[in-house]
Amino acid sequence: MVEFEDDVDLMIFLKTPAEIDAMDRANHLVHKALNAVREAAQAGTTTRDLDRLAEDLILNEGGKPAFKGYRGFPATLCVSINDVIVHGIPSPSVRLREGDLVSVDCGVVLDGFYGDAAISFGISTMSADAQRLMDITQQCLEDAVAHVGPGNRLGDVGAAVQQRAESARFGVVRDFVGHGIGRNLHEDPQVPNYGMSGRGPVMKPGLVIAIEPMITAGSWRVKIDDDGWTARTEDGRIAAHFEFSVAVTENGARVLGI
Ligand code: MG
Ligand code: MG
Repeated sequence: MVEFEDDVDLMIFLKTPAEIDAMDRANHLVHKALNAVREAAQAGTTTRDLDRLAEDLILNEGGKPAFKGYRGFPATLCVSINDVIVHGIPSPSVRLREGDLVSVDCGVVLDGFYGDAAISFGISTMSADAQRLMDITQQCLEDAVAHVGPGNRLGDVGAAVQQRAESARFGVVRDFVGHGIGRNLHEDPQVPNYGMSGRGPVMKPGLVIAIEPMITAGSWRVKIDDDGWTARTEDGRIAAHFEFSVAVTENGARVLGI
């Protein structure tokens, strides 16, 4: 593992190819859990049911839930419905309903390395507006990945997300950002979903970042519930969230775990 101080005083841990393979395995487990959750989620399912499903699957595969206990977060998943952007706490009293836009975020630690990914999906048929928000948010992530590569800058990634979202007249959340990931869930550098291309730290082979656009139908402003976690849109409009952990390789990007 190489370690260096960037010119803006960041501590970035570059990963070896073997370490990136280990992170691929951790992220594969994350995606396995997310896929199981998406398949199980239907009207009437509680968000606690989804959390149990993911936790059992992760433990059975030899992993550990990464979020549970992190700064006191009480669950394996973040399940964020409609106007909740991120960090929704699973609950036995919250049942999914037809038309909900559900965002599920999952983290795993496996053999010392973290995986972190998120998906959004609809319960039965969503409104056309909700479907469009979800589709554009997924496209934001794909655009971001297309800008990952050696010699590119992190500002290229944020600018790609921002341009896709704002040209659709959606909001880009500022209060939460993506992040480096490795032997820690959150490492340098921060990976904002906004910015200017050509600015920010240069990406080098071995950098692994979690890219996670959080896109809103209206204002990007956030309010936090009294539980200290649940992050909602201030204006009550819906939000979507997708996340991949992505490694910079010698010739481009490798999305981990898929
Ligand atoms: Mg995440
Ligand atoms: Mg993350």
